[in-house]
Amino acid sequence: MKENRLCLNCNEVLLGRKDQKFCDAHCKSAYHYEQLQNNPSSFYKKVDRQLKKNRQLLKSYNKPGKATVRAAILLEQGFNPRYFTHFWKNKKGHIYFFVYEFGFHSVMENGKKKYLLVTWQPYMEKIDT
Ligand SMILES: [Zn+2]
Repeated sequence: MKENRLCLNCNEVLLGRKDQKFCDAHCKSAYHYEQLQNNPSSFYKKVDRQLKKNRQLLKSYNKPGKATVRAAILLEQGFNPRYFTHFWKNKKGHIYFFVYEFGFHSVMENGKKKYLLVTWQPYMEKIDT
């Protein structure tokens, strides 16, 4: 027996083409409007979760005397360097990305990517003009 396909918006049984997802244009636009209403919050939650994860990982490796860590070690634990809260640029123009108070800066050492870990300092608040 063939399984009934239902409209994604109103759950009516669909009788049209195999790839049909909605009864009509109205249901289609109503569904997409609904998605748009819901997505900002799920995107917020996704970013929020990643920031928390990143901060927790940076914090756990940011110990005195152990301020450099191989990128692969953080990445395999779920660190995503594209999610950060702000950045700081030093006088040499190097960018340090921060996840709240914990920062990281990519360096290459012996052909391996590493992160130099730092902690936010009061002098970093100053905005260059
Ligand atoms: Zn429908």
